Amino acid sequence: MRIRIINAHTLEPLTGERQKRAWLDVVDGRIAGGGVGTPPEPSGDARIIDARGGTVMPGLVDAHVHLTVTSTDVIDRATWTPGYTTVRALQSAGEMLRRGFTTVRDVGGADYGMARALEEGLAVGPRLIFGGKALSQTGGHGDFRAPLDDSQPCCQHKPDFGRIADGVEAVRHAARDEFRKGAHHLKMLVSGGVASPSDEISAVQYTSEEIRAAVVEAENHNRYVTVHAYHPRAVNQALRAGVRCVEHGNLIDEESIRLLVENDAFLVPTIITYEAMYEAGSASGLSEVSLKKLEEVRAAAMHALEQAHRAGVNLVYGSDLLGALQARQLDEFTIRGRIQPPLDVIRSATSTAARLLKLEGRIGTLAPGTYADLLVLDGDPEQDLSVLVSPERHLRHVIHQGAVTDVATHGNDTAI
Ligand code: ZN
Ligand code: ZN
Repeated sequence: MRIRIINAHTLEPLTGERQKRAWLDVVDGRIAGGGVGTPPEPSGDARIIDARGGTVMPGLVDAHVHLTVTSTDVIDRATWTPGYTTVRALQSAGEMLRRGFTTVRDVGGADYGMARALEEGLAVGPRLIFGGKALSQTGGHGDFRAPLDDSQPCCQHKPDFGRIADGVEAVRHAARDEFRKGAHHLKMLVSGGVASPSDEISAVQYTSEEIRAAVVEAENHNRYVTVHAYHPRAVNQALRAGVRCVEHGNLIDEESIRLLVENDAFLVPTIITYEAMYEAGSASGLSEVSLKKLEEVRAAAMHALEQAHRAGVNLVYGSDLLGALQARQLDEFTIRGRIQPPLDVIRSATSTAARLLKLEGRIGTLAPGTYADLLVLDGDPEQDLSVLVSPERHLRHVIHQGAVTDVATHGNDTAI
């Protein structure tokens, strides 16, 4: 399918270059060319999209999602079959696309089958970059057994957030197993978390030897390790062991910032998830204990973002919203905009995210030959980030895999 976009005000995130009255051609899902002024006669049929002076930019990337966690009701979730879990996950992926996310990175839960279904167009949704199951130590952030529960973790074939692996050999085996199943990265849970029942936020999980074993496996597979971590003891140990990316990082210190910069590593803050859970209170599905833990990390989140931004850390967009709160996926833009200039926030969800995902030159840019993951917006997000946050008003079309999803349509497009 051919698509031609005319009267566009293009935004190239990496360079910040803007072009007015520009046109772009999309052929077979890729950007085939473009220019400024009057375009040449199109060859063959094309759907013409008149951007009417609105912004055309690369589609967004959310680098921290959990597609399979579409409910926070753990008792109900325990009754879901793999098929039901997957159908719900793909439906939520479709909603993400309609918010403007053309690529999402799942960091716990999604699998090869879901990525394949999306790639084959069996379900409408973003490109899915997945890491399979997150690795947790016994009693760590991925161990949801109650204290009285002595059952052995099993059933690794079920879609689930995490798997338990203790010791260097078990971690090595679990890493190899996730890469065998096609994981694009490996996620490790290396500090306490909000939702897990039996750990403190400041708890350090895994030893540097175990993390190092996972890093070596990842590097051998040309992949990388990313870690869930809050406390600097956990963050710094993981960065010294060679992990490439830190999720959350709310409590990071100066040493964490130094290591992030020195290693050219990435930080994915997920501040909206704390705000959304805080506002929802017990309706978020969190227990009393978890709501207390939430306060510890929520209070520090903005300071961490500010320090990282000032130091020039590679910042990437992430939302980490679970269940019904996923509807607030775009609100992280508003939060980041309180600290960072709009173009920096846009880069975190496009060009910098592409570098983290090792998809540079394929997504996050308008360059010819790249995937045509495009947004057609009414308004200019570089002037006002709220243009991205209210798709029902400003996001006219999402272009992905050669197809156009009309979001806030105002008519006026023609096919010739
Ligand atoms: Zn996490
Ligand atoms: Zn998460």
